[in-house]
Amino acid sequence: MPDLKSLSQLLVEFRDKRDWKQFHSLKNLIISLHLETGELLELMQWKTDQEVIALQADPGFQRDLAGECADVLHYLLLIAEQNGIDLIAAAEEKIRVNEKRYPVGLAYGSAKKYTSLD
Ligand SMILES: [Mg+2]
Repeated sequence: MPDLKSLSQLLVEFRDKRDWKQFHSLKNLIISLHLETGELLELMQWKTDQEVIALQADPGFQRDLAGECADVLHYLLLIAEQNGIDLIAAAEEKIRVNEKRYPVGLAYGSAKKYTSLD
């Protein structure tokens, strides 16, 4: 199983074989990432929570969900690659930031944003 770095390299090779880098400005990549998250959202459109829970046992739904998650990850990897972002390090750092923002004693069982915790 490839790690994020080798997956990013596979994706860059895929892009470069097709001469698509010319279309991949940061603006276009972020727009594309957002569009793909919209496709994830579309899987939820008009469904109740119970219907979504039932769909999670459907192999066709799982295939569509995995496909859209992959599209989102691909654009995120391309954004990171273009901007020299180590996604693992950035994600680990963000967990440390959120540990300070959301102390267990204040945030446990709460859906409040950190700015509203007291
Ligand atoms: Mg898609």
